[in-house]
Amino acid sequence: MPELTSSDSFIVEVKESKRQKEVGILLEKIRKLATSNAEEVVALRHHFHTFPERSWEEVETSKKVVDVLKGLGCTILKTGFGGTESGVVAELKGGKPGGCVALRADMDALPLQEENAVPYASQTPCVMHACGHDAHTAMLLGAAKILAEIRDELPGTVRFLFQPAEESGLRSGAKAMLDEGALDGVDSIGGLHVWSLAPTGTVLYRSGPVMAAADAWYLTIKGKGGHGSSPENAVDPTITAANLVLNLQAIVGREVSARETAVVSTGVVKAGETVFNIIPDSVTMNGTVRTFNPAVQDTLEAAIRRVIAGLCAAGRCEFELDYRRNLPATINDHAVTMTAKSVCEAMMGAENVKETELIMGSEDFSYFERKVPGTFFFLGTGNPEKGTNNPHHHPKFNVDDDALPAGAALLAGFAWARLTGEVRG
Ligand SMILES: [Zn+2]
Ligand SMILES: [Zn+2]
Repeated sequence: MPELTSSDSFIVEVKESKRQKEVGILLEKIRKLATSNAEEVVALRHHFHTFPERSWEEVETSKKVVDVLKGLGCTILKTGFGGTESGVVAELKGGKPGGCVALRADMDALPLQEENAVPYASQTPCVMHACGHDAHTAMLLGAAKILAEIRDELPGTVRFLFQPAEESGLRSGAKAMLDEGALDGVDSIGGLHVWSLAPTGTVLYRSGPVMAAADAWYLTIKGKGGHGSSPENAVDPTITAANLVLNLQAIVGREVSARETAVVSTGVVKAGETVFNIIPDSVTMNGTVRTFNPAVQDTLEAAIRRVIAGLCAAGRCEFELDYRRNLPATINDHAVTMTAKSVCEAMMGAENVKETELIMGSEDFSYFERKVPGTFFFLGTGNPEKGTNNPHHHPKFNVDDDALPAGAALLAGFAWARLTGEVRG
């Protein structure tokens, strides 16, 4: 490449600064639109909060989403996933040609009795939006409204994914949407989760692995029951179970590099009933495994299988093991994450945008990021004065409504920035 003369570089600098100014003006416009739409987004959040629906049952929520999107001039591509009536995929075509960026919101509530005394509290017993997916749905509708208002300036298409069943464990809504073509033709994807552990007005991001893979194991150790006074006539599975509880921890300590992150936890150990002098026939044990690196995940599964087989053989026990890989790790693409970070910094102030530490929880957004480069980032909604800093999945979890306009603006800004390619980290 020829070297730039000083006058060439001057022209480049002028063009750069003009472009940066235009970018700044557009992001400011998005922010203003989000502020003027704030009441509507809060009202939508309260509506979804009042009428929560559990995983794969988000039928009325989906209908409401379709109504709002149709009113904005979006094209509904598909409703109903996984053989249900839950889930919506829609598109907004911009006024100029370009690529396709997807934005995702999950819509499901949890089987929990709400303990918040708010006018918009859940009207369904034992079902509650305790993870903030009501806010996600409302904020994505808010983003759709903003993008519809700047439609003529959009180079390309925005695909909206309103996803069922993020919380359902084995039957992931994201996987079903992916399998049914929700990301076909999409270049990149963004998802935003409210985060009560971070203060309102802040955003957390991370490039690379951000949330863990979640595996589950279900084990039955079969011995031979007998009288507690004569263990020599029995095969005691509790000894093998006790050995296992301790030796599973040694796998993390001895077989995983200290530079990696991994957790093995035993959540259930059940042996015998209430009788003190009976050696039980069998013990059931369940647990979870969390990792970020797929190679570490492979190592742990193989080691857990080996240690279980070895200790059961040593204890003369038979066993049945069901090892399931429930969710892959959420791994953010660097370039897409840097776009999100830059948009967040422009809109929220660089001092309010921080890198999150690794999160040991998991997210089925991970499936989308296996198909296209994406980023999953976090909007602070914790405000101790309003009591919105309880942990997620708590019966008093709530979202600070003041954070919602920023969430809608960030999603819209991210989509615009990905399409234009104007904002890079
Ligand atoms: Zn959750
Ligand atoms: Zn969630």
